[in-house]
Amino acid sequence: MNHADANILCKACGLCCSGHLFSWVRLNASELEKVEKLGLDVIRNDPRQRGFTQPCAMWNGVCSVYTSPDYPRSCQKYQCKVLRQLLEEDISLQDGLIIVRETLVLIREIELLLPKSSMISFRERLLAQKEMLEVKEKMLSAMDESFLQKAVTLLARYEDLFGVDDFIDYET
Ligand code: SF4
Repeated sequence: MNHADANILCKACGLCCSGHLFSWVRLNASELEKVEKLGLDVIRNDPRQRGFTQPCAMWNGVCSVYTSPDYPRSCQKYQCKVLRQLLEEDISLQDGLIIVRETLVLIREIELLLPKSSMISFRERLLAQKEMLEVKEKMLSAMDESFLQKAVTLLARYEDLFGVDDFIDYET
């Protein structure tokens, strides 16, 4: 297990903190207050969605609360599939970095096609726009078609390469 390589991979990525893979992160009831004091944007009014929103306020290229005793448990435990495979030596660091780089390129291309929205999480904006265009079906512009094709490719990458297939999958 190579933790130095894992560190390089996570620093090059950050998708699990930036609102690209997830729109919110689950918290235990006992963590809500402590995590709020750390400066995270806590959601507490719906017991089915108890957590904090993404993009995380503590993400600035690195996690700024990583060493806090109140660091969220979900964050401590979460490992995407790319990271797990790297730690299990099923892929090399170079393979992992290529997956991350290609995914970031695709995300940048999609960002250019996404309309402005009050939703701040990329994942929410992506799914809302995809659903809206799928309803429109036959009246799609070339740009809409391009967006849909890239969105489907990205969601397949999330599922196949990152092991993320759910809107809120950041479980403890
Ligand atoms: S607390 Fe740190 S690890 Fe957890 S989502 Fe925020 S930036 Fe990422």
